[in-house]
Amino acid sequence: MTAGTSRTGKPLAAAAIAQLESDGVATLIGTVVNPAGLTHAKTVPLRRMGIFADPGLGASPVFHAFTIDQTGIVFGDAISVVGDQRIRIDLGALRILGDGLAWAPGAFYNQDGTPDPYCSRGVLQRVADRLDAAGLTALVGHELEFVLVGEDGSRLPSVSWAQYGLAGLLEFEGFVRDVMNAATSSGVTIEQFHPEYGANQFEISLSPQQPVAAADQLVLMRIIVGRVARRYGMRVSLSPVPFADSVGSGSHQHFSLGRGDVPVFSGGSAARGMTPEGESALAGLLAGLPAAQGVLCGSVVSGLRIQPGHWAGAHNCWGTENREAAVRFLIGGPSNPYGANVEVKVIDPSANPYLATATILGLAHHGIEKNLPLPSEVSVDPSSLSDDERTEQNVALLPSRQIDALAALDESELIRGILGNQVVDAVLAVRRYEHEKFGDLDPESLADRFRMAWSV
Ligand code: GLU
Ligand code: MG
Repeated sequence: MTAGTSRTGKPLAAAAIAQLESDGVATLIGTVVNPAGLTHAKTVPLRRMGIFADPGLGASPVFHAFTIDQTGIVFGDAISVVGDQRIRIDLGALRILGDGLAWAPGAFYNQDGTPDPYCSRGVLQRVADRLDAAGLTALVGHELEFVLVGEDGSRLPSVSWAQYGLAGLLEFEGFVRDVMNAATSSGVTIEQFHPEYGANQFEISLSPQQPVAAADQLVLMRIIVGRVARRYGMRVSLSPVPFADSVGSGSHQHFSLGRGDVPVFSGGSAARGMTPEGESALAGLLAGLPAAQGVLCGSVVSGLRIQPGHWAGAHNCWGTENREAAVRFLIGGPSNPYGANVEVKVIDPSANPYLATATILGLAHHGIEKNLPLPSEVSVDPSSLSDDERTEQNVALLPSRQIDALAALDESELIRGILGNQVVDAVLAVRRYEHEKFGDLDPESLADRFRMAWSV
């Protein structure tokens, strides 16, 4: 076998390799994200690019059962030491990182070439295909909140930090500039990059894309911020709660839906200009949210963030521009060039972003199929309502105890139908392991223990 042919006899994209070589690329990184939200990687020299794409590189099925404590694997009936799968990179999504590196997202396949039911990227593609078959189009925009920490994961000084303050931005000016430059070079479309509320916390908003491409772009953005932080002797915490005494980091997702080219969240005569389908999509999402928590923010740390007053959407309701509602509605118009959309605030960075998108789009689709009616909007901070008012308006707190969120997920035939039993059982397995081993830790020890668990 020589460069230019593959084991399966398919011609390699020799021209693509030559082009990448001339761009200075020597090493190709492929990544996959597992049910615990861990990002795994394999690399090949550039000449092996075609093999990495097809038939792919070998990987044990236990990749799906690696846990967040750096050592754990949850073996089960379906996941054991026996067997081998293939990770195939998607060359259409390849991006150059610089310094001789290129990256592409990967997906799991069985050795016979069939898609692996545990593969989160594959699951999201299937949900997107189902929407497509129903005549619906979806766009997804990710937000990335993170906290800069020292090389050893320790807290960095924040003497000149103010909430959303310019001083923090200037303190990390080189980091911010290099992230912007690297993102531009790698073709990542940043919408904005700003200091957040918490000390040394930043947020990057990414442009809306097709669902799979959007999640790929989030993974790439995490790689970029991780690489640049290292250059400055820092690391990036992607924990939902990096420090127990501070605000958390979300990984909010915005989505819009269209019936073909016609938006369902604007231009209609229903609530806030939605079409009836838009209302039902939102209703489906809200109805499914308590059971979806296990996928969207199901880690052992996540519950520390899902609290009222944290802008994390702890109350299961919707409201226009309401940052305390689990689902924030953004009206289209001159101030929102991408048009009306829905922000799911509860999602945090411990979630697998492919599975999180698959869940929210699947629930919205279900709402449309069932013509679900939309509960009324909550236009105040839900915490300011009396208990009676909350009961009357059907506004409940989302589960913040991990074990409750997981039980609700386990029982959800709907989410099992959207994601498949294998994926739901894998999520439950790795998260229950967290609960069993670490559920008794106090908030401070928990935040300390897992501050860097999802870092790349
Ligand atoms: N950091 C908050 C969270 O945990 C979100 C703040 C915001 O609304 O951007 O989700
Ligand atoms: Mg934010």
